[in-house]
Amino acid sequence: MEVPPPEELKQPLVVPYKLLMGPGPSNPPPRVMNALTHPILGHMHEEMFQIMDDIKKGIQYVFQTKSKLTLALSASGHSGMEAIFSNLIEPGDRVLVLVNGYWGQRASDIAKRHGAQVKTLVQIGDTFSIITIDNAIQTFRPKLLFIIHGETSTGVCQPLEGIGEITKRYNCLLAVDTVASLAAVPFKMDAWKIDVAYTGSQKMLQAPAGITPIAFSDRAQHVIFTRKSEVPVYYVDMKILGRQWGCFDSSRTYHHTTCSSLLYALREALALAVEEGLENRIEKQKFCAQKLYEGLQNLGFEFYVEEEYKRLPSVTTVKVPQGINSNEVVAYVMKKFHIDIQGGLGPTAGKVFRIGIMGYNTTPEKVAIVLEALKDALHNCRKSKF
Ligand code: PMP
Repeated sequence: MEVPPPEELKQPLVVPYKLLMGPGPSNPPPRVMNALTHPILGHMHEEMFQIMDDIKKGIQYVFQTKSKLTLALSASGHSGMEAIFSNLIEPGDRVLVLVNGYWGQRASDIAKRHGAQVKTLVQIGDTFSIITIDNAIQTFRPKLLFIIHGETSTGVCQPLEGIGEITKRYNCLLAVDTVASLAAVPFKMDAWKIDVAYTGSQKMLQAPAGITPIAFSDRAQHVIFTRKSEVPVYYVDMKILGRQWGCFDSSRTYHHTTCSSLLYALREALALAVEEGLENRIEKQKFCAQKLYEGLQNLGFEFYVEEEYKRLPSVTTVKVPQGINSNEVVAYVMKKFHIDIQGGLGPTAGKVFRIGIMGYNTTPEKVAIVLEALKDALHNCRKSKF
């Protein structure tokens, strides 16, 4: 053999435990991890279809939608963006993106790759008012407005109520990324007239990454079924994928081989959301975020998002204090405590720490642990400088 078997793969796999208190992924609960070990099923087996139907109901619950075209994409959160632009946009269509951080920038990049004429409204680290949005839609007349509900790079939560009414008035579709916000703050897809929403499995939903719940409104489905050109990306073509998921009144047909293990984990994670109740989760999130804010304030941190009502309760951003190197603190906390917190991303790189409280880690005890680690890190990293 020209390429010999690698020595590395003759060693056992070693994966350390880390407490994941960054902007995601988070640690799934044992029940979800156990679900991954069920036997593998074929993607077209009856039992698998039942599991997919259960998942659909769970996604409808967490999104608060009755949308028939509800399913989980076999890929990470980015696939939600790809699916939206692939299915709803044709070359030359206008897309308006609200950018309050890195993920809005990413969405506009992806929209451009699909040939859209993209306009961005940029307010890094801040929210957009209804008036600003109304004016922009009135002048630009986009086919689709794209919003990041919870910006993990800046820690901002964009209010959504009232925007759906505006987009309907101008015959514009409303697309929302809820990757970091779903189950942390209220979200009502149908009541808020949202046309397409997707979320991440690896954050508040407490499942592993790599599977992305998404739902399309009737209006969005109409756009998909009446588009002139083929959906350019086969892998996210909702007309075909929706058939495998039993979303239309037609028999199921093969689109791709789903990962049954990830679907078991997602089903279990959605079952936990159903058992706990979304309202209780959101209350718990608020309570733990409050504890974190108090603790960070006591440590002398300043918040990157000053007004508390604009903050995303699942990801808190605090300014890096003078004389401190954020990379050094992040590395210290990991090395000494095996805790993952993160520095900034994109426009906040080097400027903030990002501390996440998500899913299974949304407890006052975990908040206290991360605060203790930060206190120790600040003390030691400051000492090393002076
Ligand atoms: N949107 C937001 C708001 C995110 O925070 C992320 C990643 N954390 C994504 C989209 C992309 O998700 P993924 O890394 O799972 O592709």
